[in-house]
Amino acid sequence: DPRLHGIKTKIRVVPHFPKSGREVLTFLGLAGIMFQDITTLLLDPKAFKDTIDLFVERYKGKNISVVAGIEARGFIFGPPIALAIGAKFVPLRKPKKLPGKVISQEYILEYGRDCLEMHVGAVEAGERAIVVDDLIATGGTLCAAMDLLERVGAEVVECACVIELPELKGRERLNGKPLYVLVEYL
Ligand code: IMP
Repeated sequence: DPRLHGIKTKIRVVPHFPKSGREVLTFLGLAGIMFQDITTLLLDPKAFKDTIDLFVERYKGKNISVVAGIEARGFIFGPPIALAIGAKFVPLRKPKKLPGKVISQEYILEYGRDCLEMHVGAVEAGERAIVVDDLIATGGTLCAAMDLLERVGAEVVECACVIELPELKGRERLNGKPLYVLVEYL
């Protein structure tokens, strides 16, 4: 698809960012020290729209009722997809941000652990969901997101990211769940 090249050229690569957090992967020679910055993609209305359109074309008419977005950049791409396919948007947030009753899922990071939370009652058993984020690295974040949805009985149809870092083999951590990405960064 010719739109993919345009999208890729709008993603900025920032060396040496963030200052902490990816040192272990960098040390292992896996991730480099290259931060994929999608804010430059958002500055280009055509590339941003193409990004959303590609996801919408993939998921429209697939009977998906939940678009779950991962804090924070899944909150940028998820809602326009949800609106266009006629699904609800469900934010999966970092701990202690959601005011209602939540379920929590911990996951392991390169350094220590993190956690995602979802409001109880936001998703019902039997609903068909996609999980949206900007980027998959090791896949731990997407795994935690899928666990939350599956714990309430939803079916995760697919995970969708703008960018994949294939060297980190995050795809292999998704327990066979399909992953759809627009661009790979090697
Ligand atoms: P994973 O859990 O190792 O797959 O890391 C993915 C999470 O870290 C996502 O929520 C991303 O937003 C974030 N992340 C990791 N590396 C980058 C990057 O280079 N650019 C933007 N987000 C990143």
